[in-house]
Amino acid sequence: MRKVAVVDDNADNRLIIRTILEDQYEVMEFSNGIEAIDGFRKDKPDIVILDISLPEMDGTEILRRIRDDSELHDLPVVALTAHAMVGDREKYLAAGFNDYIAKPILDMNILFSTVQRWAPGT
Ligand SMILES: [Mg+2]
Repeated sequence: MRKVAVVDDNADNRLIIRTILEDQYEVMEFSNGIEAIDGFRKDKPDIVILDISLPEMDGTEILRRIRDDSELHDLPVVALTAHAMVGDREKYLAAGFNDYIAKPILDMNILFSTVQRWAPGT
């Protein structure tokens, strides 16, 4: 089973994502960037779903650390943000994210197809 890491400080959001994906993916949950980076080094996921708004270290900074890391730099990273506005998608792709999902996740197919695109399930 491929591994999806979900980094979000909101436990409800993590649960929603886990519920949508857990039949086809192993879901790893992290509530902050320090634990996430540490966890990725111990057990590298196949894809990361990364909340932008996090305490202490925001998603953009976590992405920078992933891209600077010799082991982790090629990880597909999907930005997850509640601040959905016109142009956001382009902004996050330009910042180095592979893809973008807006919260709240109202359509589970959008999440599922995005994860499939970067880490096809078995
Ligand atoms: Mg958050």
